[in-house]
Amino acid sequence: RKKNAKTKAEPVMETAVKGDTCEPCDTLGASLARHIRYGLCRDDHDPEELFTAVGESVKEQMLDDWRQTRIKDNQYQQKQVAYLSLEFLMGRALGNALLSLNLTDEAKAVLTDYAITLEDIEQVEHDAGLGNGGLGRLAACFLDSCASLDLSVTGYGIRYQYGMFMQKIVDGYQIEQPDRWLRHGNPWEVRIAHKIVTVPFFGHTENYVDKHGRRHHVWTDTQNVLAVPYDVPIPGFNNGRINTLRLWKAEANDEFDLAEFNEGDYAEAVATKNLAEQITMVLYPNDASVNGKELRLRQQYFLSSASLQDLLARYVAHYGKDFNQFSQHNVLQLNDTHPSIAVPELMRLLLDQYELTWDEAWAITSQSMAYTNHTLLPEALERWSVPMMKYMLPRIVEIIFEINSRYLEQVAHHWPGNIEKLTSMSIIEEGPEQHIRMAYLAIVASFSVNGVAGLHTQLLKDGLFSDFYQLWPEKFNNKTNGVTPRRWLAYCNPKLADLITRRLGKEWITDLSRLSALNAFTSDKVFVKEWAEIKLANKQALSEFVYQECGVKFDPSMMFDVQVKRIHEYKRQLLNILHVIHLYRRILNGDTEGMVPRCVLIGGKAAPGYAMAKQIIKLANNVAHMVNSDPLVTPYLRMAFLPNYNVSAMEKICPGTDLSEQISTAGKEASGTGNMKFMMNGALTIGTLDGANIEMLEEVGHENFFLFGLDAAQVAQAKVNYQPQQIIAQSEALSGVMSMLKSGHFNLVEPGIFDHIIASIIDPYDQWMTAADFDSYRIAQEKVAQTYLDQDTWQQISIRNSAASGRFSSDNTIAGYRDDIWMKK
Ligand code: PLP
Repeated sequence: RKKNAKTKAEPVMETAVKGDTCEPCDTLGASLARHIRYGLCRDDHDPEELFTAVGESVKEQMLDDWRQTRIKDNQYQQKQVAYLSLEFLMGRALGNALLSLNLTDEAKAVLTDYAITLEDIEQVEHDAGLGNGGLGRLAACFLDSCASLDLSVTGYGIRYQYGMFMQKIVDGYQIEQPDRWLRHGNPWEVRIAHKIVTVPFFGHTENYVDKHGRRHHVWTDTQNVLAVPYDVPIPGFNNGRINTLRLWKAEANDEFDLAEFNEGDYAEAVATKNLAEQITMVLYPNDASVNGKELRLRQQYFLSSASLQDLLARYVAHYGKDFNQFSQHNVLQLNDTHPSIAVPELMRLLLDQYELTWDEAWAITSQSMAYTNHTLLPEALERWSVPMMKYMLPRIVEIIFEINSRYLEQVAHHWPGNIEKLTSMSIIEEGPEQHIRMAYLAIVASFSVNGVAGLHTQLLKDGLFSDFYQLWPEKFNNKTNGVTPRRWLAYCNPKLADLITRRLGKEWITDLSRLSALNAFTSDKVFVKEWAEIKLANKQALSEFVYQECGVKFDPSMMFDVQVKRIHEYKRQLLNILHVIHLYRRILNGDTEGMVPRCVLIGGKAAPGYAMAKQIIKLANNVAHMVNSDPLVTPYLRMAFLPNYNVSAMEKICPGTDLSEQISTAGKEASGTGNMKFMMNGALTIGTLDGANIEMLEEVGHENFFLFGLDAAQVAQAKVNYQPQQIIAQSEALSGVMSMLKSGHFNLVEPGIFDHIIASIIDPYDQWMTAADFDSYRIAQEKVAQTYLDQDTWQQISIRNSAASGRFSSDNTIAGYRDDIWMKK
């Protein structure tokens, strides 16, 4: 690595500091020895401490390149992208950093001196779980791709003290426990004390006109909170670029505390401190829904304001206060509406702090904001109460109302005399209490609005945002999600990665389209055999993991059928469980002809307030218990619910999966990214025409994909006169499953606990149409089993799936953001 660093372009000095004359950093081995000797201070260190020393030494290997990247980017040699996101689901960093820096072998060798393996050290690292699911993990994959594509992109997020909760399963029920991920420190982060900014809250606004006749707005009497940046390095893959993820921590403003303290009220002073620090205490554990809590709005404003102040200060340091060029050099990508309060905040900073006119400030704001929508589910669309926001952010509300009144003039111009349009498209929703529609605010202010898969973008244009599409068709575009092939193939599946590299060379790691060359090997018996052996070895490793986590024995000779993702009705884990019950019944009835033995794994967290999702977890556990405790059943069927599904679990799961379950109700899953990880690793998919499944099917072909169920248009149609009771009556299989559920077979000692689930299936207003798709799903599952019986064919299809996954590299997605959004204009 040292050698590598020296071959780079001449370093540009940030400032002349004494440190520049010192020797470049040590080798990894020497650095580790130093950290262990001088960093840990003692000899009886535990694995956590050893991990910290390893992390510190690996970070040290990045510092020179990190500094050079920063210096280069501060000269604005390329457009600066700020990716604003309330979530970054990073997972572990060590293995990925070593891969990116090409230091894995060196690390393995160095650690032999300490009688511990790299794998053991890696397992000690706590996941950085600063996100809920797909949206947060997408942000993490994007950061990897941006650095690997040599783009200057800074991730801005929150350094939650407690990340995504830890899920325990007790008696089949989900129990949430706090995720104390920072307990042992975090070797990757660097606190940047000189970049602290102040974020105002509460207070009131005052207006006055100066002697030149200019109106000024002052937001005064505010409670100020310090935003302290913690930087995390994001290494590009073998390219010397180290980007930054800047995570903000809230701290109390000292002056404020001191004033209280001087009056002798020490307790008050500390209470104020706690209030400030609460802002970044915990991640809200809601996926695809909102709960409208005041603290959440505070988090959103805190992130947006701190990040924008940071961006503007950087810009001013280079260009001075000439903001004419701002949007030429900066773009902000809003990851969902969560950071969309950045729109009025940028206006506020430009108007009140830098004294631009409204038109100037609006031109800059609306040319630098781009918004990504992540969901069509109405419960996920953010609306903030105006009175609440007025109290917390009075100046921001004034600006939003001004944006709205100017924008409504455009609406009135486009649809003259149409009062209804003015009401339905207003950023302000009227009612007993006014609310701010954050998605509308984001659309109005952004030059780009994108969905995350073809169908999703189409549905945005046709449905949810059709009026806006009519007004501004040029803003709308699609960017199908992707996943990074570094973490999700090269790192997590080293055996398969090695086989692919031996046959294709290693270029696939940065150009995943090259995997298409694997198609040529489907008739190569030696290759197919090796492909199958690797899957078997990965299944062996996965079964050990499942045994360790759930105490259930999975047999690698059986088919591994997996559904891991957040638990949500639209994702239909329930449909999967009903199918397990169906197989269970068949086995009990002796109907095992043609049945392929399978192990079904379900995993995922439910939002703590989502009762139905929690009941689904309980049902999965109870069904698993009945299945696994019957020795007549287990030769054919086993089932486990994996607790605490997270990124590091997925790294073990996707390489060992035969069948990937992507079975959401059509029209509900915006994209999905788990689907892509499985495909890349050679799993076959059983899925509906939803989200990116549609594009996966396009790439791999019908003969290599198990499609079932209603499509989005049919779902809409079927809803008009949906009669699940009739559907059940007409399906022998589903009637059998429902009778067994109703009989209390899975809850003998807890009568009634599944009544809500049963009621939801037979409800004519069941949005998720579980009964409607059951038979189609069951038949597709029979086809899966038949295909699995012919292992040669199965392995060939597996190869074809991996070969067809190139399009779903996040490098591809990011190239699209770069060309169509960020570098546009
Ligand atoms: N949660 C974790 C930990 C993940 O790794 C992923 C993606 O692989 C997701 C959630 C999103 O999964 P899905 O797209 O299946 O909802």
